[in-house]
Amino acid sequence: MDRLHRQRIINGWVQSYLSESQIHVLVSEETNPLLLDALIKGFIMIGMGAVHLICDRPIFHCDDYRAFANAIQSLTAIDSESNPDQHSDCIVDLCNTYNESARLNRMKGGSKEILAFMNNEKVLWTTGDQTGPMIHAVNKIEQAVLEPASLSLFLAGAVLAEVVRKLMPLEKWKHSEMQHDVHFPLLTATASDETYHPRYPSIAVIGAGALGNWFLYALLDEAMLLGVSEIILIDNDSVDPTNLNRQVFFTHEDTNKYKAEVIAEKIGQLYPGLTVIPITSRVEDVTFFDRKKLNPSILISCLDSWKARAIVNEIAKIKGIPLINGGSDPYSCNAYGFFPGLSCCLDCAIGINAKTELETHAASCRDAEPSVVFTNMIAAGLMLWLMQHPRQSCSGLLQYDLTQPERIGTIDLRMKNENCRCLTLKTGNIEVLS
Ligand SMILES: [Zn+2]
Repeated sequence: MDRLHRQRIINGWVQSYLSESQIHVLVSEETNPLLLDALIKGFIMIGMGAVHLICDRPIFHCDDYRAFANAIQSLTAIDSESNPDQHSDCIVDLCNTYNESARLNRMKGGSKEILAFMNNEKVLWTTGDQTGPMIHAVNKIEQAVLEPASLSLFLAGAVLAEVVRKLMPLEKWKHSEMQHDVHFPLLTATASDETYHPRYPSIAVIGAGALGNWFLYALLDEAMLLGVSEIILIDNDSVDPTNLNRQVFFTHEDTNKYKAEVIAEKIGQLYPGLTVIPITSRVEDVTFFDRKKLNPSILISCLDSWKARAIVNEIAKIKGIPLINGGSDPYSCNAYGFFPGLSCCLDCAIGINAKTELETHAASCRDAEPSVVFTNMIAAGLMLWLMQHPRQSCSGLLQYDLTQPERIGTIDLRMKNENCRCLTLKTGNIEVLS
């Protein structure tokens, strides 16, 4: 089975819509590097035909993408002065400055707040008003500082999703054209958030599949800021060629090796100051003795089974530490944060134990829906963002849905288990600096 096998089995997916397409990406020196990197890797992994970067100076090195490049017909960087007369199926503008954008795509529109946008024009060097809604990922509070990795990854996933949606009109999403601009976050940040900087010395990531891969990818960018010195990575699975369409840490050379060990080794090379502890067993099988030895400050659930999530939820309650949970399918994804004392646990919020029973029942009659790269990128971005904004966790479940014109929304969670004491738990070892 080849690397694109998993997405080909998505209902209605026609890979040739993507593999025969040419994408142009407008890039300036103001382009956020993480956004660009994640988007390019996403394009390559999903099997886009050709990707052309239009940039002024050699700020982009195609060679850096050699490990991924066997998955794409062509990745090139084009000098903006050369004004190529090439067909383009989609243009993505990542310039992030009005002047550069205007100069590069010779279009009007946009403001400084726009970090990236899609336009609906099909021809590259057209002039005229920019049309169509945009996706913004500007966090009002943080815009004065750096654009956080969480929002960059969110934006990369959201842009990739819109490109794929535009090129490949699946039944599920063909009637969900964006009607309005999408703003992230929809939540109103409160003043208290500005002084609430949680620090997590040790982070346990449970699951090293697509969600775990992308979460770690973005986390590493902010590990210093978050005070991270240790990552515990729990996964018993090994790398399969069909993972390579969405799991960013792996290449063909990693096939058959344990995912947790491959990632630990790669992070170790890039960030020697970080300790990564790979545990190659299922979270269900991590013994009580081992659990006692491990003392993470937070649990990140990147799992695809409710049974395993229920176990992680119990660990969070016993240890009194936060838990961020994410989930995705090809069309949508969501993220939720359980912060003891601030928000209720996963079972009270989304009825995890009931879902576990349903899952056991359903497992015998259907395969799990295949996963795809962009919803995992979006979910991982949302998860990292929630981790940095504990107070926002009370608002509910954050959801991004490509089948809805609104795309992003919050689902209010009122379902409470009266027997659960999660809301009365004290916030664990989150260190609050002001
Ligand atoms: Zn609870």
